[in-house]
Amino acid sequence: MKITPINLKYLKFKSNAADGAPGANPVYATVNVPDEVQISTIKKALEELKSVEFLPNDFLYMETTGINPPFKNGREAIDWINQSGAKILYADFSSPNVHACLNYNKEDGSIIFINSNYKDNCTHADILAISEAILHECGHGKDFDCENSIQEELNCLSLNVMCHRFYEKKYPGIFKNSDSFLFSQGVSLYPKLFFDFYKTALIQRVAQKYGYLQSGDNKHKAGKLAHSIKQEYENATYV
Ligand SMILES: [Zn+2]
Repeated sequence: MKITPINLKYLKFKSNAADGAPGANPVYATVNVPDEVQISTIKKALEELKSVEFLPNDFLYMETTGINPPFKNGREAIDWINQSGAKILYADFSSPNVHACLNYNKEDGSIIFINSNYKDNCTHADILAISEAILHECGHGKDFDCENSIQEELNCLSLNVMCHRFYEKKYPGIFKNSDSFLFSQGVSLYPKLFFDFYKTALIQRVAQKYGYLQSGDNKHKAGKLAHSIKQEYENATYV
């Protein structure tokens, strides 16, 4: 089987850093040819995603926080994958801290890469977490451009948060014993940060990860929160 090494930096990668990577360091990825188990994991994750209904109060909360979730439920994201022909693949990333990323260009269309560290994770909780990562990247893919901004990240992160809270309700206790990096620094972290009243930790976290980006862009006008994050980034030194 042929493994194609790709350099995301030169493939007009959506942002200069993949989701989960610190700051603007470029991340390199080597695509894996998925085996049967991996294909079945992705299928299961998509099956879960299809049934996701955001809790109405969560959706309202996001809107009042100045966040525009790109999808209203999981079904819309699945429809986007089918209509856009987006591919989902596993890749080895140069940084182990990257959960997933999206590559888009006119020739290849949209490709969602999942960190291959998660490829053999087939517990139910892991499959749910992978579906959340896919949902986030679909949110980025929806606008078919290579531009990114703090506001766009907030919008896409809100999808993870609402999806995670739906799963917690649907499968009580499912994430209780999940403490791997995928959970502690990803899917289980953002729900806490988003729903904190003062959002100080959220602002710091997003500033650290995405503060180097512009506050907003043409398709995602920066709200108050995005401006506060940019301000935090400019006032602090993040390496
Ligand atoms: Zn993102």
